[in-house]
Amino acid sequence: MFKNLINGEWLDGHGVSRNINPSDTRDLIGEYAQADAAQAELAITAATAAFPAWSLSTPQQRFDILDAVGTEILARRAELGDLLAREEGKTLPEAIGEVVRAGNIFKFFAGEALRPGGESLPSVRPGVGVEVTREAIGVVGLITPWNFPIAIPAWKIAPALAWGNCVVFKPADLVPGSAWALAEILSRSGLPAGVFNLVMGRGSVVGEKLLNDPRVAAISFTGSVGTGQKVAAACVARMAKFQLEMGGKNPMVVLDDADLGVAVGAAVNSGFFSTGQRCTASSRLIVTEGIHDRFIAAVVEKMKALKIDDARKAGTDIGPVVDASQLSQDQAYIGIAQSEGGRLLQGGEHLEHNVDGQPGFYLTPALITDTTAEMRINREEVFGPVVSVIRARDYEHALALSNDTPFGLSAGIATTSLKHATHFKRHSQAGMVMVNLPTAGVDYHVPFGGRKGSSYGPREQGRHAAEFYTTVKTAYTQA
Ligand code: NAD
Repeated sequence: MFKNLINGEWLDGHGVSRNINPSDTRDLIGEYAQADAAQAELAITAATAAFPAWSLSTPQQRFDILDAVGTEILARRAELGDLLAREEGKTLPEAIGEVVRAGNIFKFFAGEALRPGGESLPSVRPGVGVEVTREAIGVVGLITPWNFPIAIPAWKIAPALAWGNCVVFKPADLVPGSAWALAEILSRSGLPAGVFNLVMGRGSVVGEKLLNDPRVAAISFTGSVGTGQKVAAACVARMAKFQLEMGGKNPMVVLDDADLGVAVGAAVNSGFFSTGQRCTASSRLIVTEGIHDRFIAAVVEKMKALKIDDARKAGTDIGPVVDASQLSQDQAYIGIAQSEGGRLLQGGEHLEHNVDGQPGFYLTPALITDTTAEMRINREEVFGPVVSVIRARDYEHALALSNDTPFGLSAGIATTSLKHATHFKRHSQAGMVMVNLPTAGVDYHVPFGGRKGSSYGPREQGRHAAEFYTTVKTAYTQA
């Protein structure tokens, strides 16, 4: 039994969650303690008590701890990547890449602990000086989704600790393994008891406790739009700070002048890799008339060559869907698209077993052509290996279609025209824009986030993360 970490102690829960391998549902990865609301409260109490001392800890102390955590994560990339692929279903190279990203994030924010910044400037009044500094905000509640089980926790935990906050971390129910492994590393890192707490449990129990306890100064949430709206309502009601990273319906525009190989590679990568379970996945391909048929034929050819198999097997391109409920959502959307007039050109086949007979949640990547902007398949997030295609007359039409969405996380364009690339970067209504690159796959040292229904509040990652994890103080002195 893997336990919760509360006030420096490993505690049993009040229930158990079974962590199942989606590549082979006979494989039980482990049993993880489920906390109740009272245990979540204990964690909040511990974090509240630890905050005064931790917020005044030295930058050197915070650097040393975060740097050591990053070093250990990087050293254990193969083992932690294997666990991640086993519980979430992305392929082993993708999982190891995610672990490396998590290690690098800890190292980046270790450095940020040493660079707190600030301003000293004269007042408009004679003889008065002004200092502008940043301070920790207090206890932060971190609530994360299942699709990046170690990187998303890392990009919330590392900046929170770097700037002197205390943490209560609630991971997603489906992927407690990576969260627990990260907590175990943090538990040996030299952090004082209570500074970091792991509370595994249900969103409606542990998550809601975090949202509603007045001692939790801020909530950083990544997950679905529906849950994000609940987080926002609860935080506004008690005026807590919050940030939300939510879904996407990310467009990739392919223009007549695109390099075909670049466009096809980017579309297949960001549409289907990681089983399409990325908030930045390209789920809408917007293709101009002159290249449409050639592009689709090349995408289909590439899709046919993809190997759908156990996430940890060498040579697998696409692992399974994460669980039965996500699988049925993916299948339902394929049906909805067809009933709206879309044409299932390739894939979308549910495989109950892989080639070795392992029972798992396998789905061949699906490409749906002849869709239009108003269809549900182009307005709602599927969160699986399901990509739709919209025809566009020209660049202006493609740009308008790409922005015709309630979301605004990432957007891409494949073109060899500097004019169109430059115009698209300026006029795309997305937080992240990619030229001749997949819409998914971003760096760890620069801001991450979106617009419209995809995000709310300050950006995550890079130095911009300070906006959320610190509060500004303006101090005046008359000498
Ligand atoms: P989800 O909203 O179901 O769950 C997210 C987290 O919220 C989980 O830890 C869950 O237990 C918790 N939760 C659920 N109900 C709660 C409640 N009432 N109060 C407090 N917490 C509660 O999302 P998911 O299915 O785990 O993740 C998939 C979603 O995440 C997709 O929509 C995807 O686009 C999004 N996502 C966004 C980003 C981004 O940065 N924009 C990154 C990854 C995933």
